Amino acid sequence: MFKIPPVSAARLPELLRAMPKAELHIHIEGSLEPELIFALAQRNGLQLPYASVAELRSAYAFCNLQSFLDIYYAGASVLRHEQDFYDLAHAYLARAARDRVLHAEIFFDPQTHTARGVAIETVIDGLHRACAEARTGLGISATLILCFLRHLSEKAAFETLEQAEPLLDKIVGVGLDSSEQGHPPEKFARVFARCRERGLHLVAHAGEEGPPAYIWSALDVLRVERIDHGVQAVHDAALMQRLAHQRIALTVCPLSNQKLCVFPSLAQHNLGRLLDAGLAATVNSDDPAYFGGYINENFTQVFAATGLTARQAYQLAFNSFEASFAGNADKRLWQHQLKESFERFVEHDY
Ligand SMILES: [Zn+2]
Repeated sequence: MFKIPPVSAARLPELLRAMPKAELHIHIEGSLEPELIFALAQRNGLQLPYASVAELRSAYAFCNLQSFLDIYYAGASVLRHEQDFYDLAHAYLARAARDRVLHAEIFFDPQTHTARGVAIETVIDGLHRACAEARTGLGISATLILCFLRHLSEKAAFETLEQAEPLLDKIVGVGLDSSEQGHPPEKFARVFARCRERGLHLVAHAGEEGPPAYIWSALDVLRVERIDHGVQAVHDAALMQRLAHQRIALTVCPLSNQKLCVFPSLAQHNLGRLLDAGLAATVNSDDPAYFGGYINENFTQVFAATGLTARQAYQLAFNSFEASFAGNADKRLWQHQLKESFERFVEHDY
């Protein structure tokens, strides 16, 4: 890494917003803003149990994963047609591009939609069309990661994979999300093995609210390449060493952790500790419509609360490209652009 001079606290937010970055942990259904929920409900002739956008926003008061998930699934119910999924992904990608996201790997939960009678191709085709158009239209590269809902059975995950078979060229990998406690990764060992045979990349949520043991089994049983969240790893020294040694990326989501009370306050977030231990941590927004901000808001707030520096900002952005499933040529190009953006910024500081 090249030498980065100190950047004043006053100018750090500007640097954080301007630096190129990748987002690797974003649930597209979690980017559904109340305004779009209302617009889609109207377009699809659906009645919402909220009188206004403001009333819906005020209902976003929750303090654990389950109470969040309840409202999350209710919001997703307005997504019915291919164009709805396109509009959802396009809105996120336009927003991410403004935050200088050069590459996004977007999670989606097909079971949330197929359970309501929406065909899986409606979901994937709409999201994929938005991703494909974004490269030229918005200057952002984007791919899709299909997530299995872990509170459902492995049998249901297999059925979802089967439905997705003809569309696998439109996704880059699979993940595991939803309620973590009581649903250890090994519950999905066989379906992940099948996905691996299909040549898909593998990731899983582990160690958000769940114990370090879930991170071990995500690595050893599911054989994932990245851990989503993973902040509970700090309670297990051997695990920390392994994550650092193997450069297994953690897709950390500070504002999500704050909103779901994973840490008592943002100032007590362990992002700096993960970086100090040599882990390939990254910063992401998780469910930005619900958790109070998109990726730049996550960067600026966690940096302000914990006192992280420009050097750590560079490391986090560098890690985000390194840990992505993009090709090596793209990764090197983006990392070069990152370096240039820091050089330009530092020059203007003197
Ligand atoms: Zn997540």
